Amino acid sequence: MTSTMEIDLGPEAKAFRDELREWLEANKPKPDEKASIEADSMAEAPRRGMGMGAAWQQWAEKLHDARYLCVSWPEEFGGRGLSGIEVAVMNEEFARAGVPRITRGMGEWLVGPSIIVWGTDEQKAHFLPRIIDGTDRYCQGFSEPDAGSDLASLKTRGVVDGDEIVITGQKVWTSGSQMANMMFCLCRTDPDVPKHQGISYVLVPMRREDGSSNGFELSPIKQMNGGAGFTQTFITEARAPMFNVIAGLNNGWRVTMTTLGNERGGNATTQHVQYTRQFWDAVDMVRERGKQHDALTRQQLAWAFTRTEIMRFQGLRLLSEVIAKKEPGPASSVNKMFWSEYAQRFAEILMDIRGADALVMPEQKPDEYRPDRWQSDFLTTRSVTIWGGTAQVQRNIVGERVLGLPKDPSNEDGRTGR
Ligand SMILES: Cc1cc2nc3c(=O)[nH]c(=O)nc-3n(C[C@H](O)[C@H](O)[C@H](O)COP(=O)(O)OP(=O)(O)OC[C@H]3O[C@@H](n4cnc5c(N)ncnc54)[C@H](O)[C@@H]3O)c2cc1C
Repeated sequence: MTSTMEIDLGPEAKAFRDELREWLEANKPKPDEKASIEADSMAEAPRRGMGMGAAWQQWAEKLHDARYLCVSWPEEFGGRGLSGIEVAVMNEEFARAGVPRITRGMGEWLVGPSIIVWGTDEQKAHFLPRIIDGTDRYCQGFSEPDAGSDLASLKTRGVVDGDEIVITGQKVWTSGSQMANMMFCLCRTDPDVPKHQGISYVLVPMRREDGSSNGFELSPIKQMNGGAGFTQTFITEARAPMFNVIAGLNNGWRVTMTTLGNERGGNATTQHVQYTRQFWDAVDMVRERGKQHDALTRQQLAWAFTRTEIMRFQGLRLLSEVIAKKEPGPASSVNKMFWSEYAQRFAEILMDIRGADALVMPEQKPDEYRPDRWQSDFLTTRSVTIWGGTAQVQRNIVGERVLGLPKDPSNEDGRTGR
């Protein structure tokens, strides 16, 4: 891969870069190990911090021991308190060394930051180390069949029973649930108040101590890229200690806003890495096909490169905002729209460049359905303008909260949706 321009660093970030370069040189996986980590990284789960292969696990452990996980969390919570520029340096150095930059997925970029803002000292001390060391692997139990963009309409019930909360309902599109052992779940704990005010945010164990299911039944949803990375999730009387309710009963909506802000913008600094890498792989593909002199293809590649660079700097800006204010503001919606619409358009461009070949599946075993990498990207990116809040809803948020335009009429009580 050809790298991007090096960022101009201050002395602290330079010292961090030198230390990291040295560590990566001494510790980076050997080429055969790298290949298996990468194969694992192509699957759905590792995006969520849950790779299962041995090589992936070993690499994650090395990164954990050297404190290269959850690096933007403050040091007091087990992170490194890295500045935006240092996180950017880290991304660049991992890309430069050609090794995967593993994260703890939703635990690292959604739940952990929400606990840091809203959890009690005891909750922080209990839950955060378990995310960093990989003990707790989270999935997100927000969406329901009738509560997607209008998330506050959710119906899953939570009933307090002594020092436990008992949860019953149905979630849908639960990514990575088959590999998770914890769900950060929204449930209605007071049905008699306006809908945003009766919701609680609960960290629910998916298994009991004896290993049996804690009332969770997972039904995988087959996707058009051939994977089944998410499920319909039926929850029947799942129990969680009251200790696991973040920010107290009926105060879950505010925590949700923190989580969703991070979902739109919190991974912005790592986002560009995969697209920069995909870009240079695409350039190799164009060369292999002898299309590097084709004027239209060159225009399209220049368009794409410009956007991966904008993504990189936008990510840096957003991370600085997160570090300064502890959580991303509504401008994270700009980021979500930008990267998701780019990803979709670039995947389409690559299908056009490949022409008729793009329509032919690679050779398959009987009963197999396995699109190639570019076909899979094309199919997978159809969903990126939906998950984490749809493109239309992001436009509402930008209109109302960044540009100060009149409120969306369907948003009757003035709160923004998902
Ligand atoms: C790949 C993928 C992974 C996902 N992973 C998870 C997960 O792990 N956990 C989880 O909880 N959820 C997950 N989701 C669910 C996702 O968050 C929802 O699909 C999303 O919020 C949209 O909700 P919906 O599908 O119910 O669509 P709806 O909300 O019904 O929207 C339908 C259409 O109406 C538009 N629309 C709705 N309201 C408005 C409005 N006010 N103004 C303008 N347009 C509007 C939408 O933009 C959309 O085009 C995932 C979804 C996908 C596709």
